[in-house]
Amino acid sequence: MNRFSPEDLNQISQESIERLGKRDVIQLALRLRDYAIELYEKSNLNSNSSSKPPSSDDPFKNKKTKSENKREDESEEPKEKSSDHHELPDGEEPNHKERADSDNQSKRNPGRQPGSTGFGREGKPEIHAVEHHYPKQCVICLKDLHEPVQPYMGHYTYELERLADGIKITCTLHYYYKAVCTCGHENTEKPGEGFVSVVEERKRDIKLTEYTIVGPMLATFISALSRRCGMSRKKIREHLIVWLNFQISIGLICKSIREAGIACYPVVDELLDDLQKEQQVHLDETPWYQRGAFCWLWVAISKSTAIYRIGTRKKTELLLLITEAFFGWLITDGYGAYRSYPKRQRCLAHLIRKAVALTGAVNENVQKQGEWFLRELRGLIKAMAQGEDGRIECKPILARLKRACNLGSKSDHAKLKSLANEILNDWDAVVAFVKNPGLPATNNEAERALRWAVIYRKITFGTRTSEGSRCLAAQLSVIETCRLRGVDPWDYIATAIAQGRKGLTPPPIAQT
Ligand SMILES: [Zn+2]
Repeated sequence: MNRFSPEDLNQISQESIERLGKRDVIQLALRLRDYAIELYEKSNLNSNSSSKPPSSDDPFKNKKTKSENKREDESEEPKEKSSDHHELPDGEEPNHKERADSDNQSKRNPGRQPGSTGFGREGKPEIHAVEHHYPKQCVICLKDLHEPVQPYMGHYTYELERLADGIKITCTLHYYYKAVCTCGHENTEKPGEGFVSVVEERKRDIKLTEYTIVGPMLATFISALSRRCGMSRKKIREHLIVWLNFQISIGLICKSIREAGIACYPVVDELLDDLQKEQQVHLDETPWYQRGAFCWLWVAISKSTAIYRIGTRKKTELLLLITEAFFGWLITDGYGAYRSYPKRQRCLAHLIRKAVALTGAVNENVQKQGEWFLRELRGLIKAMAQGEDGRIECKPILARLKRACNLGSKSDHAKLKSLANEILNDWDAVVAFVKNPGLPATNNEAERALRWAVIYRKITFGTRTSEGSRCLAAQLSVIETCRLRGVDPWDYIATAIAQGRKGLTPPPIAQT
């Protein structure tokens, strides 16, 4: 009997209560109290107290403060031990909070534990090709080198080949030779080496090198299974064994994923330059976790370039994405860090959602005001979509919208007042697309670009290290930019890895 419909609540007023006897007033007050308790308890349910999934929990309700997180980060970073094992299989994580807590208590390092059974390859691999690497020129006297040469090292590399009718894993045996020049110098040909990603106090740093068993395309495929399909390291291993009859250790899977990210680092630097030249850039950010610490994942996306970045929500982070060299338009939500940009379009979809929420208010007046906002905001988008003819209709709509805001800003209803003030305070950015017809009215581009990242966060509970965050962001940037430019991202990343292993910078992603 404690259920009150909006119609019931609407009829309760000072007059209606004054008409009741004292006994009835007390009864009503008690029932309203019970109803309030019921609603309160319902609103406080989360994954710990009901069958709701952890992903529905409020990310802002992390008990730790920012400074605590920072301290934790600093003290725990050096615990990183092995280059191959610093990310646990994603699927195994119980909860980001639990994980952070258990890390604190057990002091257990992530990855393979000391004394556990290692991974070894059995038998001789079936070789599909042999490649010989000879020294060609003497490094001292620059004379061409000829026979006799002498092999001194060799290694196998498994590579994934994309054929017209499927994929295939092949094994190549690489031989490296040395030769003595007529000048007496001994020249040796070595596998290429590139960028070394250093994490302090880690036992083995990740070095891009050709001296590895995983070829560039196979590493790209493994990273795609993780970054694009959200598969855990364990599942990837199972997948490779079941479908491709290929055995690889979890550590090497981790390294391959990381390597694909590191190979994308130099590409991101170029994309940042490309982004500053754009006319319109959409910006958005979403919560992220790095070892349980609360961070933000930013995205800046234009017609042909997308850049992701994991960091704080501070303006300094934004200035790394959008530098002083940028003179175009920003399309954003209402977040304060964006406010200082003069050329800015505020996303109308956010305001429309807030107006929709008002139409569900208990108070009828507020409902009507909400409908009014909705009518004018949607009217503006519709009128602008009609082109030249529609623009004439905009002037009266703008006048009505302003009137609705002025009225709403005087209301007692907190949400109505806040929406009205929000529009008034940011008026120029809300209506920028009316004066500049090329501008989009919503920030859907950026929100779409974040959708997979949000799902990925829910599957993996974020990243564990700053290197992991940077790798993920770099890979997402390259994959999304390739998509925007009509380039195959996997061919491109494989090229980037192959170049990176030689110490070369990958070619820029072609602009179409
Ligand atoms: Zn020589």
